[in-house]
Amino acid sequence: VISIPLTFFGGIGGASRHGILVKGACYMDALANLHTVVFDKTGTLTHGQFAVEAVHPDHFNERQLLHLAAHVEHFSTHPIGAALRNAFPEEATDGCRISHVEEVAGQGIRAQVEDHIVCVGNQRMMEAIGAQWHPCHHIGTIIHVAIDGRYAGHIVINDRVKADSPQAVADLKALGVGHTVMLTGDREAVAADVARQTGIDEYHAQLLPIDKVSHVERLLAAAPRGATLAFVGDGINDAPVLKRADVGIAM
Ligand code: ADP
Ligand code: MG
Repeated sequence: VISIPLTFFGGIGGASRHGILVKGACYMDALANLHTVVFDKTGTLTHGQFAVEAVHPDHFNERQLLHLAAHVEHFSTHPIGAALRNAFPEEATDGCRISHVEEVAGQGIRAQVEDHIVCVGNQRMMEAIGAQWHPCHHIGTIIHVAIDGRYAGHIVINDRVKADSPQAVADLKALGVGHTVMLTGDREAVAADVARQTGIDEYHAQLLPIDKVSHVERLLAAAPRGATLAFVGDGINDAPVLKRADVGIAM
């Protein structure tokens, strides 16, 4: 009667000494039978700190394109928003009116800057508003910009894999985790590169938060009987899957 609760108590106490807060003993139990670990990419396997690498305007100049993107991202908490703001530091002193800000999960963000509706996001967002976007030859996360529905160009930003991500994936495999998966809203080329660098078995790109849920449900159904699934994410655009997994791990 005493031995089992005491084990949970010791385990949760040990984890908290390493800075890991465990919500309940049932999660310790579920972790013991872990078979599949699903990861988010941005901010989880990668630093989530993007830096602007190139600016390719279609019309306007580079400065004007960055200016618009930084304004639209003014209130964004997404790591991409922070990168675009950092690339345009003059922003603080300039008095443009920004209103009607709306974040579209898995796509990007839209706002009114002065008298124009500016959309900043991925190709999915450009397709949703009917802007004539074109691809970029750089490997990286490509952020497209459209003004009043007209394509204005794109900004290439890059993130880096965390130094300990490949080791973490290898350690999980050594501990008996049979399957590792990465689910991301980012592009195929970036996802393939991160999967290769980290040694992840399976990956899926260009997903919306709801698509991440469908993948987790498919993986839950495919897991051996009694085996559990954990999802590791940073909480941005992945709250639904964190909740759906047997164990949700928030970075
Ligand atoms: P991940 O699954 O890699 O953590 P997210 O679901 O957070 O990615 O975002 C998916 C994609 O949506 C990003 O790669 C980007 O193209 C676009 N996106 C999301 N938020 C923003 C934003 N604030 N500004 C521009 N693009 C964004
Ligand atoms: Mg993320």
